[in-house]
Amino acid sequence: MELNALYQEVILDHYKRPHHKGLTAGDIQVHHINPSCGDEVTLSLKIEDQKVGDISWDGAGCSISQASVSIMSDLLTGKSIAEADSILDSFVSMMQSKGADQGDEEILEDGVALAGVSKYPARIKCALLGWMAYKDAVTQVGERK
Ligand code: ZN
Repeated sequence: MELNALYQEVILDHYKRPHHKGLTAGDIQVHHINPSCGDEVTLSLKIEDQKVGDISWDGAGCSISQASVSIMSDLLTGKSIAEADSILDSFVSMMQSKGADQGDEEILEDGVALAGVSKYPARIKCALLGWMAYKDAVTQVGERK
């Protein structure tokens, strides 16, 4: 897989020094796996005043999956649920674009480093794992209210 060297560095940096890693108590905890690659993430979500109060996680797997969870937790923490939804939508559409959508850096920040992954169908699930875990968690919290 060939990714732009700068982006490769952003991904490796998140992989080696992940942000928000280490589970803390939240309103809900979910566990997601990507069987095709063997990636796993456990995500804990705390909602405060209709905002993403805290995301913490633990996981194991390939650099793309783990870096993507780190990037996602940085991006979504502190955002309103609506803002987080719209960031999630931007990331998912970039991942489904087969390389056509390079991502908006204003919205996705370090997440644009994963744009190149969308050209590799086998790896898209790696990049989406943490984001789908967040989506599941926030949906379940909503249902519980
Ligand atoms: Zn993977």
